[in-house]
Amino acid sequence: MKYFKKLRKELDKYLAQDSVGRIAHAYEFAAHAHADQTRHTGEAYIVHPVAVAMILAKMRLDQQTIIAALLHDVLEDTLVQKEQLVRLFGDEVADLVDGLSKLTSIEFETRAQAQAENFQKMIMAMAKDIRVILVKLADRLHNMRTLEAVPEEKRHRIVRETLEIYAPIANRLGINEIRVAYEELGFEALYPNRYRVLQKTVKKVTGNRSGILSDIEKSLNDRLLECQLPPAKISSRQKHVYSIYKKMREKQLSFSEVMDIYGFRIVVESVDMCYRVLGAFHTLYKPMHQRFKDYIAIPKSNGYQSLHTTLFTSYGVPLEIQIRTEAMDQLAEHGIAAHWLYKSGEKISDHVYLHTRAWISTMLELQKNSDSSLDFIETVKTDLFPHDVYVFTPQGEILELPEGATAVDFAYAIHSDIGHRCVGVKIDKQLMPLSTILKSGQTVEIIRAPSAHPSATWYDFVVTGKAKSSIRHYLKVNATNLRDKKEEPLSINVVLKLKALVYWRM
Ligand code: MN
Repeated sequence: MKYFKKLRKELDKYLAQDSVGRIAHAYEFAAHAHADQTRHTGEAYIVHPVAVAMILAKMRLDQQTIIAALLHDVLEDTLVQKEQLVRLFGDEVADLVDGLSKLTSIEFETRAQAQAENFQKMIMAMAKDIRVILVKLADRLHNMRTLEAVPEEKRHRIVRETLEIYAPIANRLGINEIRVAYEELGFEALYPNRYRVLQKTVKKVTGNRSGILSDIEKSLNDRLLECQLPPAKISSRQKHVYSIYKKMREKQLSFSEVMDIYGFRIVVESVDMCYRVLGAFHTLYKPMHQRFKDYIAIPKSNGYQSLHTTLFTSYGVPLEIQIRTEAMDQLAEHGIAAHWLYKSGEKISDHVYLHTRAWISTMLELQKNSDSSLDFIETVKTDLFPHDVYVFTPQGEILELPEGATAVDFAYAIHSDIGHRCVGVKIDKQLMPLSTILKSGQTVEIIRAPSAHPSATWYDFVVTGKAKSSIRHYLKVNATNLRDKKEEPLSINVVLKLKALVYWRM
């Protein structure tokens, strides 16, 4: 039981004794099954499943998920059969482990094919049970943490795949903690020198500034007291090396400009308190114009909720503040995984859960309409990189679209029939071309004609998967001129490379 001790300690914090007992039994079973195997690192193989289970235990996942994590490699790497798992651990665990094994068991001819198929399989697995993906993400996280022992060529393949497939999925599921870890580890593996230099500098600068940070923290606390508000959990936000690097690249900022922004996170008891604390801080330091965002009233597409504001402090540095409740905080870090933590009837995680299920079923639908997996991944790639735009229907309903979405995307987002029949658009009551890119806050009204039909040229400017596949599907069914376009080799390699470039801004 020597590798189990630390895990047991973590499990004891949130699971009942009999659950921990069953998990201990699964540990023994897995340790026995992997007994004669070692990892690249030279350690006993069981170290890996235990580490994966530990990642999930820290996210407070349920008994079945932890057991599946411990057993995740037994079907693939040992003589254990699924029937045995059913008998010993029940159908639910056996299905989870089986789902995980199916995610890795097929080899493909090309890398592009492999990635596309992998992604497709991940979606199918998620549709059955989202917990399969949670174990898979944790599995990949531990593999990323132990990359040094992997030969260089394989290491780069793993890193690329992580950044191109796993990070976007973690992001889409709102599992921020894991996404950030992937990016940090990936950045370090691909650019070890840049990583080292930046990390060193960040440490130094942060150390130098700890005085100012604690002064600001104190002034925030004092302000709450003055306003007779209960004390809140105030923590200064840690800056991640990759996010600093990305900001410098994207916004053309110098290192000191990026570092010159201080970030604080305030966790309070209730939604009501979020707004009261916001008010208290806005009367302490002046808020920066147009930097206030209310993600509590309008959550991000992955369910993220928080109030964001930027304040001018007396120290001459801007202060970015996030205010949220405990549940929102869990959700911000663990996304969909928080659903199992708040299973006992907390509303906000239910919302995220349903939202995620809806997203997955859209993905499945897109998959049905795609000719091949390469075709499919091309369709969903914008859905995986959401920078959302919020627009209104004439009835005042909010619709969320990815950045760059046009009036046609909007029409298809409402209904494919509205998309097919649209001939014009009024944006804030002004007649505009259908290709117009929408901006947050606009009211969009689609003008339809019953005899109208989609044009192949739309395909060049729409960005959402739904619009793309609907247009393609319509044109194909109605036998048309998109043929030429479709015959163009859809080079997924190029697509993924470009995407990686965008992702890294290299
Ligand atoms: Mn594994």
